[in-house]
Amino acid sequence: MSIRPASSACPCGGASFDSCCGPYLSGAALPPTAEALMRSRYTAYVLKDEPYLLSTWHPSTRPTEPIIDEKEPIRWLGLEIKSALRLRQRKVNLPDHPDSDTVEFVARFKIGGRAHRLHEVSRFLREPDPDSGAPRWFYLDGSFPEKE
Ligand SMILES: [Zn+2]
Repeated sequence: MSIRPASSACPCGGASFDSCCGPYLSGAALPPTAEALMRSRYTAYVLKDEPYLLSTWHPSTRPTEPIIDEKEPIRWLGLEIKSALRLRQRKVNLPDHPDSDTVEFVARFKIGGRAHRLHEVSRFLREPDPDSGAPRWFYLDGSFPEKE
């Protein structure tokens, strides 16, 4: 885990960690939307919070291999949500599928000093939590509109 002052900006781009992804990573709250979950998972990658990444991964696609490779350290540079507005507009037209959603984003990162760009369309499902029964979002999988 990286050391981080409590008042710092959220890694996902939110104004402050404590009012953005912090409550989700600590378990104090569940992300209310697929986009909020996506942002919190980006933040978990930045902070190397592998338990959070696993717990928010849908059981049907959850990896059994370690997610974070310590031998290949990634420095995350920023997150840009591409489709949030369009998705909000689409939801108005499709109120009968409230339990699945997609989020398109670009995440930039560096490995070994070289910059990379991840452009992904992630799919999310909302299902009852196995323990509490409360509806919560899970990351299902992603597709890549442009291979780079
Ligand atoms: Zn955040």
